[in-house]
Amino acid sequence: PLAAINNYCSGTVALVKSGRTTPDNLLPVLEKTAQQAVRAGMIIKRIREFVKRSEPKRQATRVADIVADAVGLAEIEARKRRIRIVTDLRSRLPVIYVDPVLIEQVLVNLLKNAAEAMHDARPNAVDPVIRVVVRLDSGFVCISVVDQGPGVDEATAERLFEPFYSTKSDGMGMGLNICRSIIESHRGRLWVVNNVESDGHITGATFHCSLPIGEPDGPSNGGSEAPTPQTVTGEL
Ligand code: ADP
Repeated sequence: PLAAINNYCSGTVALVKSGRTTPDNLLPVLEKTAQQAVRAGMIIKRIREFVKRSEPKRQATRVADIVADAVGLAEIEARKRRIRIVTDLRSRLPVIYVDPVLIEQVLVNLLKNAAEAMHDARPNAVDPVIRVVVRLDSGFVCISVVDQGPGVDEATAERLFEPFYSTKSDGMGMGLNICRSIIESHRGRLWVVNNVESDGHITGATFHCSLPIGEPDGPSNGGSEAPTPQTVTGEL
C-alpha cells in the first residue's frame, strides 16, 4: 500500500504541476490514496497482533482471491523493473481457513524478494517473468513463487529464514523469518529450492508455501503432514 500511495501522490503532484487538472479529476485518486493508507494501517496492526500472540485470525478465504490481491500489490513495484508476474492456477481451488491479511503479506514479500533478486542479478534481462503457481497437493494448497534470479546458495538456504539475515545494503532480514512464522502458525511450511535445468544450470529460486485445506483441527485436516520439501523439477 505504501508503494501505491507513493504512486498516486507522485501522479497527483505531476498533474497539479502541469496545471491541466481539476479538483473533480483529482478526487478519485485522493480517495484511493486514503483507502490505501487505511489498508497500510490495518496490515501493520494485524502483523503487530500476530507478533505479540503468534495466533492468526482465521476466516474462510478463497485462495484465488489472496493470490490475486498479493499479485496486484506486488505488480506496482515489479512494473518499475519491467518484470511481469504471471499467475498459473493449476486446479479448482478450495476455500482455506487462514488470516488473509497475513498470508497476503507473505506472498507480497516473496514476490518483492523475487523481483529484487532478478533485478540485482540481471537488470537488463529481456522480458523477465515471475511465476506464481498454485496447485493442490495431498490435503494442502501449495503456492510457489518461481523467479529467474541467481537462485540461493544451497549451503546458506536455511539461513535466509533466520532473523536479520540479509545480503541487501538496506535489508532488515526479517521478511522471510516472519513469513515462515506466519505459515507455520497456519500449520503449513515455507521452503526454498533452486530451479535446476537438466544440465545442472540454475535458472532461479522457487519459494514454496503450503497451507492445509479444511478447518483448523477439522476432520479434513486431521493429522496430515505438510508436503515434504522437494527439489523443483522441470515441471515448474
Ligand atoms: P531482506 O529482504 O530484508 O534482506 P528477507 O528475510 O526477506 O530480508 O530475505 C533474506 C535474504 O534472503 C535476502 O537478503 C536475500 O539474500 C535472500 N533471498 C530472499 N529471496 C531471495 C530470492 N528470491 N532469490 C535469492 N535470494 C533471496
